[in-house]
Amino acid sequence: MGSTDGAVLGDALQVLQRVFGYPEFRGDQAAIVEHVVAGGDALVLMPTGGGKSLCYQVPALVRSGTGVVVSPLIALMQDQVDALRALGVRAGFLNSSLSWDERRMVEAEFVNGELDLLYLAPERLTSEATLRLLDQGEIALFAIDEAHCVSQWGHDFRPDYLSLTQLHERWPKVPRIALTATATEATRQEILTRLDLSDGRQFVSSFDRPNIQYRIVPKKEPKKQLLDLLRGEHQGDAGIVYCLSRASVEKTAEFLVANGIEALPYHAGLDASVRQRNQARFLREDGLVMVATIAFGMGIDKPDVRFVAHLDLPKSVEGYYQETGRAGRDGLPSTAWLAYGLSDVVQQRKMIESSEGDLAFRRRSQTHLDAMLALCETISCRRTMLLDYFGQTGVPCNNCDTCLTPPESWDGTVAAQKILSTVWRLRKERNQKFGAGQVIDILLGRKTAKVIQFDHDQLSTFGIGEDLNESEWRGVVRQLLAQGFLAVEGEYSTLVLTESSADVLARKREVKLRKDPTPTRSTTRTATA
Ligand code: ADP
Ligand code: ZN
Repeated sequence: MGSTDGAVLGDALQVLQRVFGYPEFRGDQAAIVEHVVAGGDALVLMPTGGGKSLCYQVPALVRSGTGVVVSPLIALMQDQVDALRALGVRAGFLNSSLSWDERRMVEAEFVNGELDLLYLAPERLTSEATLRLLDQGEIALFAIDEAHCVSQWGHDFRPDYLSLTQLHERWPKVPRIALTATATEATRQEILTRLDLSDGRQFVSSFDRPNIQYRIVPKKEPKKQLLDLLRGEHQGDAGIVYCLSRASVEKTAEFLVANGIEALPYHAGLDASVRQRNQARFLREDGLVMVATIAFGMGIDKPDVRFVAHLDLPKSVEGYYQETGRAGRDGLPSTAWLAYGLSDVVQQRKMIESSEGDLAFRRRSQTHLDAMLALCETISCRRTMLLDYFGQTGVPCNNCDTCLTPPESWDGTVAAQKILSTVWRLRKERNQKFGAGQVIDILLGRKTAKVIQFDHDQLSTFGIGEDLNESEWRGVVRQLLAQGFLAVEGEYSTLVLTESSADVLARKREVKLRKDPTPTRSTTRTATA
């Protein structure tokens, strides 16, 4: 390091201490800040809570001019700007929530060089007026937050991000720093190309969050399982419970309250004032449980979240990693717990199939879901698999459920054949398709009204599956779906064969299945809400 570099870092350290009140940089921060202050471009990958904001805020204060921050988190801009102003930083934002007068004022401040940081919604950059405005002031740097949004293959694509390609063409001398907490190798390459950052430096922090214990359990009675977890391990702890739908958010929150746990609901259907109040309480008070849709959490900085529980399957590994990453920012032991079952697989596949997106979108969603399912069904270390997904290597961690209690696997080839041949026979002999429930009833030899109505007790596979119970069969179906030996189709989520089904039926392929743990008998008494 030459003496000039040392001087640069000295200025930055002073800003860190005087303005932000922190004694030293953390992890890669010093190297990143130094590089950007010196005018270099950078791509920063750092897990949630790693301290990305300072990587552009400090350089913006050290360099002359205004740091222009592009962020999709419009709802948080006001908070971010308020927090900076409280530290004495001259910050402002431009997004659609401002009145004409307010906008003019921020614009004037920028042009007069009275802003250290200017936050912009990405759609602003598609307007020529904004670009002309930016021409009139001095720009210290461009920070592109949540940079993975530029990737069409990522899980969170925002078309407005594509307009960011112009930044480099229009202001070739202004350094750019792109930041994200989630990027697979493919997404990273896409960010580099689209933002023309290939000549910049990449700073990739480890994505491992060693203090988070990952656990994924089969879903039986999810609310009760959750209650057991909270009572058994997280009594009085703050935590987040994610549910897919608004209705289940409300039901779950009511259920927890009825069972003596202080829980608050949060979803986009609630009044803005209620949402705000619940969020403020969660941040300020100790030991509250926030039951929420994924609308909750972006930009939330609460260090002592002890657990993140998912009652429904996340749509992608990226989403799972981001949501679970909100646990344990203070570095203390925390739990990431997910309950998932056959119904999740069916529901998510159905949502993809009936989505309005084009074929490419549906394929992409399918790929994301498949990766998530593979993580759920793996018999090796979950952490290693997560890290591997983000292109990093890990060793078995001894702090995830598969490391702590290695799951047994069993040869499920015969069980798979029983299911697949039932599906096949329904189709060939009867020209019918049915959902998992009916197929399992047939295998178990149950003479239900629906079995009688369709003469399904006459099928040759009727009653050949009595060696497993219903919940075991559901586990088999779930894993066959996850492994692609079965698929679901249409409005009624009927089971259909796939290309790989034939290999199993022809005994050309073995099917290895994970043995679901036998549910431990619970002693918790449950009030129903
Ligand atoms: P990210 O955007 O990567 O999720 P933030 O920038 O919000 O993370 O930072 C997470 C938390 O860590 C914040 O509370 C921040 O103030 C704190 N933090 C960041 N850098 C430092 C540092 N060098 N020293 C102490 N605290 C830091
Ligand atoms: Zn592990």
